[in-house]
Amino acid sequence: MMQDGILKAISSDGTIRAVIATTTNLVAEARKRHNLSFTATAALGRAMTGASLLASFVTKQGQVALKFQGNGPLGAVMVDANPKGTVRGYVENPQVELPLNSLGNFDVGTAVGNTGYLHVIIDRGFGMPHQSTVELETGEIAEDINRYLVDSEQTGSIVIIGTHITSEGVEAAGGLIVQLLPDANEDTVCQLENNVSTFGTFTFLMRQGMGIEEILSRILQGFDVRPITEVLPLSFQCKCSKARFVEALKVLDKDSLLSMANEDGQAEGRCEFCNNTYQVDKDCLIELSDKPLAD
Ligand SMILES: [Zn+2]
Repeated sequence: MMQDGILKAISSDGTIRAVIATTTNLVAEARKRHNLSFTATAALGRAMTGASLLASFVTKQGQVALKFQGNGPLGAVMVDANPKGTVRGYVENPQVELPLNSLGNFDVGTAVGNTGYLHVIIDRGFGMPHQSTVELETGEIAEDINRYLVDSEQTGSIVIIGTHITSEGVEAAGGLIVQLLPDANEDTVCQLENNVSTFGTFTFLMRQGMGIEEILSRILQGFDVRPITEVLPLSFQCKCSKARFVEALKVLDKDSLLSMANEDGQAEGRCEFCNNTYQVDKDCLIELSDKPLAD
C-alpha cells in the first residue's frame, strides 16, 4: 500500500494555496489500536486527516488539536497533529455502529451529532496556544473544519476529506484543503467551483491508482501549481511512554503509592490517545513512595 504523505502547493499567480494528504495507513492503525467500529473509523479517520492538513499551516514547533463535541452517540472525537507528520486520536465510544445514511455512506454526521461544538487549539510554537470554537455544521467533519476556516480566516476554502472502509479494512483515506488568497478574483472562484463539481470523491481517485500529485492537479485544474514542499510522510504516533507514566505517578502521595504496591502489586495506566498500557511493578512503586516530592 502507498505510504501516507502530505504535500503543500501554491498557484504561480498567487491566488490559491493547497494542502493534500493521504492517510490510509494511519487510519488503519487507529482502527486497530482502538478496535473501532466502521462508523467510528470513518469519524476518527476524517478528523485525523483534517488535523494533519491544518497542522501543515503552523511552524515546525507547533501543534493543532481538534475536539468535536457533538450530541451524537460517538461522544467526543479528539485528535492532535503536528507539522512534522505525526497524528493521533481517539473517540469516546469506539464501538458505536450506525446504519448507513441515505447516500450509502457511514453516518458520521449522526454519530458525531450535528448539535455541538468544534474546538480548535492552535499552538503556533511560541507558547500561548490559541483556542477557537465554532458550532458544528453537520458533524460530518469536513464541513465543520470548513466552517472553522471560514470563521477564523475569513476566506473561502474547500475542504474535502474521505475514508473508504470495507470488510477488508481501510482501503483508502485522504483529504485536501484549498484556500483562496487575497489576490483571488471571480475567475479563480469560478474555476475552482468547476473543479469541485467534476472532482468525484477523494477515495475513488485513490482507488483508481491516482497519487497525491495527480489528485492535487485534478482539484487545481486550470491553475499552474507549484509544490512548495516535498511529500512529507505521515504516521500515527503518540507522545506517551513508560517514563511519562512514571512521572505522572510521582504526583501521588506516599500512602496511595504504598497501597497500590501492597494491594494491587502494581500500577497500570492506559493512554487514551493510542491505547498503549504501561505497568509499574511493586518494587518501583515502593521506590517512588520513598522519594520526597519534588517541588
Ligand atoms: Zn499514547
